Amino acid sequence: MDLAKGTVRCNCRGCTKRGWWMARTGPDAVEILAGEDHVSEAPANPYFQRRTCSACHVTLFGTVRAPEAGGPGTNVNVRLLDDVTLEGVSVTWLDGLSDTWEVLGTVPHVPVDPRPRRSS
Ligand SMILES: [Zn+2]
Repeated sequence: MDLAKGTVRCNCRGCTKRGWWMARTGPDAVEILAGEDHVSEAPANPYFQRRTCSACHVTLFGTVRAPEAGGPGTNVNVRLLDDVTLEGVSVTWLDGLSDTWEVLGTVPHVPVDPRPRRSS
């Protein structure tokens, strides 16, 4: 998985709630090594076949079929990759919230520390 090629996020509610943050890789690049009984297929559309965790419903990855969607390929949720530093990774934001899918901008990812700050 080459994150130097950039990643894509969408601002729509579905992608936000499912934690979807994707990077593209090859059509056969993903192999499920364990826990396949917890992987569910979401309803397919002509462009994309999404796989989710049947327990928490996070989007794991999806197969892109349609050439107009950049396929064939596999979109992987980069949040789920082990041993990867996402700080500074290029993120292109798409406007799915307005259903236009326009590129809103491309920025380096800045991680946010969710721990509460202590006052000194
Ligand atoms: Zn979206």
